[in-house]
Amino acid sequence: MKYQVYARHNLHKIPSYGRISQEQVHAIKVVSEVLPFKTNNYVVNELIDWDNYQDDPMYILNFPQKGMLKPSQFRNLSDMLEKKVSKADLAKHINELRLNLNPHPAGQLEHNVPTLKGEKLTGIQHKYREIMLIFPTQGQTCHAYCTFCFRWPQFTGLNELKFAMKQPNLMVSYLKENPEITDILFTGGDPMVMRAEVLERYFNAILEADLPQLKTIRIGTKSLSFWPYRFLTDPDAGQILDLFRKISDRGIHVALMAHLNHPRELETDAVKEAISRIRDTGAQIRSQSPLLRNINDNHDLWADMWRKQVNLGIVPYYMFVARDTGAQSYFGVTLEQAHRIFNDAYQQVSGICRTVRGPSMSAGPGKVRIVGITEVKGEKVFVLEFLQGRDPKWVGKPFFAAYDEQAQWLDDLVPAFGATEFFYEQEYKKLLKVDKLPGHILTPENKQYA
Ligand SMILES: *Cc1c(COP(=O)(O)O)cnc(C)c1O
Ligand code: SF4
Repeated sequence: MKYQVYARHNLHKIPSYGRISQEQVHAIKVVSEVLPFKTNNYVVNELIDWDNYQDDPMYILNFPQKGMLKPSQFRNLSDMLEKKVSKADLAKHINELRLNLNPHPAGQLEHNVPTLKGEKLTGIQHKYREIMLIFPTQGQTCHAYCTFCFRWPQFTGLNELKFAMKQPNLMVSYLKENPEITDILFTGGDPMVMRAEVLERYFNAILEADLPQLKTIRIGTKSLSFWPYRFLTDPDAGQILDLFRKISDRGIHVALMAHLNHPRELETDAVKEAISRIRDTGAQIRSQSPLLRNINDNHDLWADMWRKQVNLGIVPYYMFVARDTGAQSYFGVTLEQAHRIFNDAYQQVSGICRTVRGPSMSAGPGKVRIVGITEVKGEKVFVLEFLQGRDPKWVGKPFFAAYDEQAQWLDDLVPAFGATEFFYEQEYKKLLKVDKLPGHILTPENKQYA
């Protein structure tokens, strides 16, 4: 299958273009000035249900929606486009809008970039002891863009400091200096947009370094749902599969971390065949997704998705809370709803699906899971725990926040029982080398520390 991409400039080339209402076309044009938009022939022809496209989760997942901007933001931008204001004015306005959408949540630019012999290693993030993230330069795009994407700044050119790493040898030097790292996660964008040869350069550098500590290479990818032909008919599909096999044969676990947001993504012949071929190489597929209003905010849907995954040999891994960036106001659910949906789904599946963990917030101090909502001595509280922490000692220790019906993120919470801070905050300040963490209710300027 030939990969055909559609974006703003060739929207009219989409085979189903005639079915999209004028109002929707307008919404796509306005919103995609601010947030990235890209789709392709697989998504359009095999995933979207065009008979009901306006409510279709696959359509909403991939096509910009009017509600992703505030009504006033939408109106102003739409007016500016209509009036054909100067390019410079438009660019300035769009930039302001973007900066209002919290482009750098969880301080990823400031706090997770390691150094090697005094040099900053952009393109690497090392936040949790055992696992290093690498953002290869050639993988900083995707086969299509998710409307909820939390990496949107790098697709719109907003990140001057594009996370990106060109030289595999720097990555290897860092691994040698940090023998506690057992896992490498290739991420992006989507590393599976890279040609096999390029991916091979990174993988070969790792294999040649022969690092005894290295146990797992993870690849974070949406290609299974946005372009399964990557593993079937792309010219280098076979080379990719051979590469997975080669790493597995060397005793290193290849874990494809598949981003799967909806059960429909698991239903086409192409995806089933791709899953089967990947598994034949010895690689395993794990799944993760945020919980998204308007796309998958339903417990039966999640239960169905986990069952389908297990049935196809995929291991359910994470359910995330939608991050506080981009169009979060359109996709976000409250922590209470997230907990309910998770639990109502978890309770109806068999133990074999319960490898999944969540709902989890990837926040500044770590991955925080909402364990439950309960009452302790008359006070209603959220029970929380770290699934991952900047300090591994934080993991697995229950802690409590005052119940808050509206809360959507860790920043919205305050400690329960009148405590002035959460148990990890003193140490967190030390780790960040800051004297003061901002208040629990954060302002946009200090959200970076959250
Ligand atoms: C989620 C995440 C990881 C991986 O954590 P696991 O719990 O091992 O899956 C690594 N680094 C960062 C920055 C993350 O957000
Ligand atoms: S696949 Fe991931 S990085 Fe790519 S658009 Fe979707 S959420 Fe963003």
